[in-house]
Amino acid sequence: MSELVKLNRISKTFYSMNGETNVISNVSFSIDENEIVSIIGPSGCGKSTILNIISSLEEQNEGEIISNAKLGYMFQKDALLPWRNVLDNVIFPLEIKKIKTKDNIKYAIELIDKYGLSSFKKHYPNDLSGGMKQRVSLIRTLVLRPNLLLLDEPFSALDAQTKLFVQEDVFKIIKNEKISSLIVTHDISEAIALSNRIIILSKRPCSIVKIINIPFVNLSPSERRKHKDFTLLFNEVFSNLDE
Ligand code: ADP
Ligand code: MG
Repeated sequence: MSELVKLNRISKTFYSMNGETNVISNVSFSIDENEIVSIIGPSGCGKSTILNIISSLEEQNEGEIISNAKLGYMFQKDALLPWRNVLDNVIFPLEIKKIKTKDNIKYAIELIDKYGLSSFKKHYPNDLSGGMKQRVSLIRTLVLRPNLLLLDEPFSALDAQTKLFVQEDVFKIIKNEKISSLIVTHDISEAIALSNRIIILSKRPCSIVKIINIPFVNLSPSERRKHKDFTLLFNEVFSNLDE
């Protein structure tokens, strides 16, 4: 399998008037095609900073990144524009990138139809459930045809039940579109339910404590949760996590 992105010995320190904050210490990992990788670690350990470095919003102090990835992002809040309907939200990235061509609009509509939102094209975000907003948000990302999605705690604003449905939904779409994903989370079950691999980070400055390969990658999130080894994996991740 070919590597989409490779982080090689990345370190990061933020400098400010109050001194320096050492955030990332010698982190290396890579993400392959068709792979879902989760990063889990304590709050403030540097997870979002890793995503920011991959997407060039921040620059590392040490180490290198080799990337063949075309990135898409999905954040905790759906970040849909409330004054635009579903279709206009989905084509918004095309406007920003100035590639609102007939073909691209057609592709956006195909995605909306394919993922069951065709009768909601003219609806506004406030008329949609939390789960549907997340789906629109994901489809909006797909319009730019990424091959690697960066998801920063994408489900943490949802209530417990909705979260399970949305995880299932997002998982299906990601698999169906054959894109890779890097998911930042602090939810152990979510990491096991969605990923091929879980990277466990230490407290700040974060380094990799352990990488756990998930054995049942061909199962859906709900099937995984029912698997006899789910609890075993949960405990393995938990026992390697700092407070
Ligand atoms: P996480 O996503 O794991 O909760 P972050 O990567 O957001 O953690 O932040 C890690 C640490 O780096 C925090 O202590 C945060 O305050 C600090 N930090 C993040 N971004 C900046 C910045 N632009 N300038 C200074 N400090 C920052
Ligand atoms: Mg964060």
